[in-house]
Amino acid sequence: MDFKIQWFPGHMTKAKRMMEQQLKLVDVVVEMLDARIPRSSSNPMLIQMLGDKPKVVALNKIDMADPEKTEKWLQTFKNSGLPVCKVDCSTGKGVKQMVAAIQQVARPVTDKWLRKGVRNRSIRVMIVGVPNVGKSTLINRLVGKNKVVAADRPGVTRGQQWVTIAKGLELLDTPGVLWPKFEDQTVGLRLAFIGSIKDEILNTEELAAELIQFMKKHYAGVLAEKYAITEVEDPYACLTDIAKNRHCLLRGSELDTNKAAMLLIDDFRNGRLGKITLEFPEDYE
Ligand code: GDP
Repeated sequence: MDFKIQWFPGHMTKAKRMMEQQLKLVDVVVEMLDARIPRSSSNPMLIQMLGDKPKVVALNKIDMADPEKTEKWLQTFKNSGLPVCKVDCSTGKGVKQMVAAIQQVARPVTDKWLRKGVRNRSIRVMIVGVPNVGKSTLINRLVGKNKVVAADRPGVTRGQQWVTIAKGLELLDTPGVLWPKFEDQTVGLRLAFIGSIKDEILNTEELAAELIQFMKKHYAGVLAEKYAITEVEDPYACLTDIAKNRHCLLRGSELDTNKAAMLLIDDFRNGRLGKITLEFPEDYE
């Protein structure tokens, strides 16, 4: 499988340049990660770009992640000294706490301003992350009924706006898009599972087979129950059984394993296989 297709070096250079420009405008950054793959959905380049700018990590989509694993990930981030919070942007759960966390990490910045006699200056924040982690959903939620404060401030590209989301806190209404890191095949696979990489570049059946392998190992019994199959050794045999039980048929009553693969991946992505985390902090210890 080749995951390197979607992000050409030129795209990455452009994304990096844009991120650097946007970063100049803000005091604090929220790095949004998918709680199901906190490692694979992060981009290590961000640390270099941030310098000493404060950052809050937001683990999103906790409604679809394994709660026990989410707690472990939270602890792991805390242990490494990173302010972290968990959010579910589809309902807004945890968003208030996230805003409080932003205000807290911004305190050294505001303290510095106070020492310099700067008053009435708002903290500016932006949301960054790889595609599909939920950045726009969070921004829409935060912007909500809040009003735009200034659309035409220097440095802000046309179409970008600052929105006051809390007292003394302004949000850039355009997210910073980070590129996924593909060096590691496993990372590419996990990004594909959550839909961060376009499907057409992947072989759906191979992807489904990988997901079946993972599920059998870490969430044994889930597929058996959901699709009334036996979790046999060969993932392709499982896929065939899913096709059989879900009546995925080609013309002439031949089994359509590609359709079954799409069905399985779709079920996973929509949380219909339950709350599943794809990578665990203990694997990185
Ligand atoms: P972006 O590419 O990072 O801006 O991601 P989007 O905001 O477009 O979100 C990608 C998809 O994830 C959309 O279908 C959202 O509805 C969905 N989504 C965002 N946040 C959550 C969440 O907390 N839980 C769930 N279940 N879905 C979410």
